[in-house]
Amino acid sequence: MSKGSIEVIGARVNNLRDVDVSIPRRSLTVITGVSGSGKSSLAFDTIFAEGQRRYIETFSAYARTFLGGMARPDVDQVKGLTPVISIEQKTTNKNPRSTVGTVTEIYDYLRLLFARTATAYSTATGEPMVKYTEEQVLEQILTLHAQQPIYLLAPVIRGRKGHYRELLDTLQRKGYINARIDGRMKTLAPGMMLDRYKTHNIEVVVDKLVPDPKDLPRLRRSLATAMKLGDGRVVVMEKDGDQLHHYSTRLVCPQTGDSVDDPTPGTFSFNSPEGACPHCKGLGSVSRVDPAKIVGNPKLSIAEGAILPLGKKSSATIFLEIEALLATWGATLATPVGDLPEKAMHELVNGSDKRLCLSAKKTRTGRDRYFRFEGIGRYIEQMTDEFSTQKERRWAESFASQQPCPACHGKRLRPQSLAFRIDDKDIAMVAEMELGQLREWLCALPDKLVGQGRTANRQVATPILEELAKRTDFLLEVGLDYLSLARPSASLSGGESQRIRLATQIGARLVNVTYILDEPSIGLHQRDNQRLIQSLKALRDIGNTVIVVEHDRDMMLAADYIIDIGPGAGAQGGRVLFQGPPAQLLQADTLTAKWLRNEKTLPQGAESVVEEKGQLILRGCKGNNLQGVDAVFPLGRLVCVTGVSGSGKSTLVCDTLLPIISQRLYRSLQEPLPYVCIEGMDQIDKVVSVDQSPIGRTPRSNPATYTGVLTDIRNLFAQMPEALVRGYKPGRFSFNVKGGRCDECSGNGYKSVSMNFLPSVQTPCPQCRGGRFNRATLEVRFRGKSIADVLDMTVEQAAEFFENQPSIRNKLGTLLDVGLPYLRLGQPSNTLSGGESQRIKLAAELSRRDTGRTLYILDEPTTGLHFADISALLAVLRRLVKRGNTVILIEHNIELIAATDHVIELGPEGGRRGGQIIATGTPQWLAAHATSPTASCLKDLATSLSTLLG
Ligand code: ADP
Ligand code: ADP
Ligand code: ZN
Ligand code: ZN
Repeated sequence: MSKGSIEVIGARVNNLRDVDVSIPRRSLTVITGVSGSGKSSLAFDTIFAEGQRRYIETFSAYARTFLGGMARPDVDQVKGLTPVISIEQKTTNKNPRSTVGTVTEIYDYLRLLFARTATAYSTATGEPMVKYTEEQVLEQILTLHAQQPIYLLAPVIRGRKGHYRELLDTLQRKGYINARIDGRMKTLAPGMMLDRYKTHNIEVVVDKLVPDPKDLPRLRRSLATAMKLGDGRVVVMEKDGDQLHHYSTRLVCPQTGDSVDDPTPGTFSFNSPEGACPHCKGLGSVSRVDPAKIVGNPKLSIAEGAILPLGKKSSATIFLEIEALLATWGATLATPVGDLPEKAMHELVNGSDKRLCLSAKKTRTGRDRYFRFEGIGRYIEQMTDEFSTQKERRWAESFASQQPCPACHGKRLRPQSLAFRIDDKDIAMVAEMELGQLREWLCALPDKLVGQGRTANRQVATPILEELAKRTDFLLEVGLDYLSLARPSASLSGGESQRIRLATQIGARLVNVTYILDEPSIGLHQRDNQRLIQSLKALRDIGNTVIVVEHDRDMMLAADYIIDIGPGAGAQGGRVLFQGPPAQLLQADTLTAKWLRNEKTLPQGAESVVEEKGQLILRGCKGNNLQGVDAVFPLGRLVCVTGVSGSGKSTLVCDTLLPIISQRLYRSLQEPLPYVCIEGMDQIDKVVSVDQSPIGRTPRSNPATYTGVLTDIRNLFAQMPEALVRGYKPGRFSFNVKGGRCDECSGNGYKSVSMNFLPSVQTPCPQCRGGRFNRATLEVRFRGKSIADVLDMTVEQAAEFFENQPSIRNKLGTLLDVGLPYLRLGQPSNTLSGGESQRIKLAAELSRRDTGRTLYILDEPTTGLHFADISALLAVLRRLVKRGNTVILIEHNIELIAATDHVIELGPEGGRRGGQIIATGTPQWLAAHATSPTASCLKDLATSLSTLLG
């Protein structure tokens, strides 16, 4: 008992039934149970919320008035709690400046390494740049140019535009006689000026002398003057040759004189003006008008409105200008744009150098006007400026697409920053490496650093390299070897970003913290589970308490302690069925224990399969890491795409297949990643992607609005005698339109109190007390219940209540089918979990007419699901397949994979070592014949089942 425990006494949050739990400290605890049983209510809404509240209590009273003190969770006591950190999955970070490197801080160490040890190379010659002290320059001159007449030149202007009249005047007044201007010796004369539109180089002749060790003072004096005038730079020119020698106290290319500043960590930051590429401001991409997006129907002419941002021909000048441009191509405004030569389209979009003329008859001034056509892209840009509204900007953006920055080619940094290299690699190249490669590179680096120029040496590098290696290792341990530091955070999946946060926390080495994680195994192949479990144990072993909400079998069995909540969901759940070590759970009599003992299993699929419906064949996929794969999806089947994390599953299904079909069926705008062709499309007439994104981001949407059942319920209320008498229409029973809703809060149920600089605080509406409707509306009742009462029912209660209303009952039935009996009809959609949102979408689809030729795509549908829930989900998917539809799952859950009809496995590894199809066939075939990671997991599952069944 030396470690103690966290005691939760009398928790009643949400559906929890006054439960007590005792979680051993410095151990790994798994909280499990069916979906909706109350796991999150215990882990997040009780333990985490209480931890947060205590943290805020430590702030000053003044600060707390702004934070609007957090409500105490409904719990009698929480004892022994240490500071709480939750490691979430939400990828809220949509900031394009955030990358894997920046969030893990690994890039910060890399910048430090580059600032301390990188060598600058001249872009012109590829040779290392050099820098000297004034004394070293003196010695160089004496050795290289002894007894030869030389000029000492001070470079004052390098490659800049201007007439430089004042500068040249000043120099002359100071007594300088000659200057080398754009490579030619000139005598300075009063009033002299240069072509202001050209770029110039000006080097002032400070002295002409023969270096002589016996007359050092003169050389030293002149050199000092030249260096001062040239801002640390001097050019030595031999009188009888055209060789120039550049010397500088800054890093300089001795041949061209290009120089760079000494690097600092800021030099390599694309998020600071010091380092960022000036063209794209460090984003690596720019948004440019996309010809594909501005042209609508290519059969139309420009006069008919083929150019979407311009619309149909009007009196606008741009049409006259375009007409003049088209004339040079022998076309008119009436030519269909599909018939215009490609080059003409290019000029239309990007502008043309041709000198064009609008004849006097057509101009307002009544004179011929000569002009160059600047392009429709420029036209769109001109329509929006810093004063444009959001709407105008969105209009302009809709014709643009993101393209790699032409200046830095996506590297995000200035050329000067990219001049620095270590082992022949600039920092962007290092950031592009896969983490596995990066680790090897770091390991081999100390030997390569020896003997490189500048300050590069092992002592400086060693501590930085150690830190880099350690942090990279943490990421490798959680199975992310295929990511790179340059990968934008916004493009990561929820599981990936959660595991990055986990790795970062291990790196932080905090002790005595309580960590809470929600399903860290999401997105991870069974093969890599052990590494994840080891990472969690590492966090525990430093001296922390780790609590995970999980359904994964391996994780449960590896835990020190398990809390099983249930038995059902919502009101049927909320009790602690078991708490203790996993070995004891295996003996217990709970649903979880039965699944763990394999007394309950999923029905194996294949035999239920009906007729052959052909195949969907996708050939030559090359997106991200895919290596030109051909994928064959049998139609009318339950198909599973699996493979280790990073192998290319989402790339194949979500970024290639789905956009291709959406484009063909719905003219959707999302471009599929590269592929060669698709066959079998004629067998599909509808595609539905059921993902985990929220069904709505505002409290104004809820399961009832999303599934459409609320429409039926409103119609029913409008038929009530009371409503007919008062003339209430269905809209009366909506809190989204004026009339029936509470006016005080506009149907929100709460009021927002805005706080300066802080998120606003919400208080219940004083008028309706959260009921959202006005009194008169609530007086209309169906079987004694008002519309507000109905919205407060769970799906299960409502299904019983509306038993005799078939259309309502049917829609509610689909919500029951997908395992959501516990959900309240009016539960605001922003409080739903990803898994719940996904199942609501599935339910909505189920209640729609399916075509029998629909393709359903689901990305990790088992997220948030207990074995028992998966069983219910499988039944729903089977129903869809039985009616002839096709379901494609991206999935890692081995039990579910075993229950599908057909498996396509990508691999063999993640990233560049993945992207191939390594096994396909029925799960039974794979288990018997293949050697892939999934096949061996299937084999293990099969043997464990058969030994159990005797
Ligand atoms: P689990 O994590 O086991 O899936 P939860 O703890 O999220 O379950 O939910 C338990 C019950 O509490 C469910 O009936 C759920 O709908 C309800 N619930 C969860 N969050 C809220 C909330 N913010 N408001 C009202 N009910 C909630
Ligand atoms: P999986 O779904 O199997 O986990 P992904 O399709 O997400 O794999 O990733 C396959 C490969 O493509 C990985 O190397 C991954 O890093 C890369 N990748 C995926 N999405 C992007 C992206 N938006 N930008 C750059 N690389 C990506
Ligand atoms: Zn750029
Ligand atoms: Zn109100």
